[in-house]
Amino acid sequence: MTGTLSAAATPVMDRLISRSVEKHRPLSVHFDLTYRCNERCVHCYLDHQDHGELTTAECLKVLEDLARSGTLFLTFSGGEIFLRPDLYEILAAARRLHFDISLKTNALLVTPERAARLGEFGVRRVQISIYSDLPAVHDAITKVPGSLQRTLAAIPILLQYRLQVKLACPLMQENLMAYRGVIALAEKLGIPYILDLTITPMMDGSSGPLAHRASVSSLLPVLRDPALQACKPRPNAQPDGAVNALPPAFGSAVSSGMESPAYNDLPCSAGHNSCYISPYGDVFPCVQLPQAAGNLRREKFDDIWYHAPQLQRLRAIRESQLPICSRCEIRSYCERCPGLALMEGGNLLGAYERACALAEEKARLAGVAVPVSALHRERDTASVPTTPDAEFAFLAADSSSH
Ligand code: SF4
Ligand code: SF4
Repeated sequence: MTGTLSAAATPVMDRLISRSVEKHRPLSVHFDLTYRCNERCVHCYLDHQDHGELTTAECLKVLEDLARSGTLFLTFSGGEIFLRPDLYEILAAARRLHFDISLKTNALLVTPERAARLGEFGVRRVQISIYSDLPAVHDAITKVPGSLQRTLAAIPILLQYRLQVKLACPLMQENLMAYRGVIALAEKLGIPYILDLTITPMMDGSSGPLAHRASVSSLLPVLRDPALQACKPRPNAQPDGAVNALPPAFGSAVSSGMESPAYNDLPCSAGHNSCYISPYGDVFPCVQLPQAAGNLRREKFDDIWYHAPQLQRLRAIRESQLPICSRCEIRSYCERCPGLALMEGGNLLGAYERACALAEEKARLAGVAVPVSALHRERDTASVPTTPDAEFAFLAADSSSH
């Protein structure tokens, strides 16, 4: 099995992550250059209209601000980034500023000339979305006939220009069992892959994409597949902090997924050392955590990053203080995401049904005697705070007692 995005950090990377978390430096930034796209994936969470994208000059100013603030890892994504006519100008600026550059694309528009320019501008990694090795399945999801063939044709071209290519495969009802074909394809090409079970609501909160989400019961064959190790506890949740020898096959196609002890007791990197910038200049803790902290057309990045109340509040959260999840006996099987907790359960600090159901299934398959989440155990008790405000008050009271 090849590696994935969700990997354990090297010792050097661990030190970098620890330092950035401690000092709140925006080490890693995901910057969507456009929401326009040449595919219409059934599960997509974006509105593809252009509501006033940052101009080239504004994008370059954002990059200068990020470089000054200490960003090292920069991921350009969309929508489809090749629809930005100024992509190379933006990449050239990113190279001048010495970022480590990654791209996410559907690769439909990749040509040898374009791949050569990516190499010239120092792009290191290209993550490509793929839904199946079967055209009928992939093209039905993208709604673009011939898209799988074009996407696959791009991979050898990118590899020829020494770009690191990774396949990202979101799994949903339409392609659930396609994962084996995608893994075989990645192995044949000698490139890493990541499987992502997360299908999120639209960024405006509407739930359309959730209709495509695979039910937890239909995921059983995937969770049971011994090659995927889906039911192992998270490494940093193991008592001795040991890291699994093999990287997990699952992760998030939207966030870096880098595991590090520096994140112990933090829900994730969002707002600590990473953030998301929309094509309109809005700064969010993460693409999956839609609480805008400010806008770069009106404020400087540093002013938002260091002073926005939304980010300061996020930085105060510790997993060990979460009102429900801190008491959960199957927490090590859970992939709780604070953004989804907010979008799906209405509460950044809360537990939410999908995370609990998946964690319970994984714990059950791993042989845990009582695979019951704290949410389900305590749901009906009056002691569980139910509103976001009540939970923040709970957290503040708990923090002051330490
Ligand atoms: S908010 Fe969710 S998707 Fe974003 S980094 Fe945190 S866990 Fe990952
Ligand atoms: S399984 Fe549910 S209650 Fe347990 S940690 Fe995950 S979200 Fe929280």
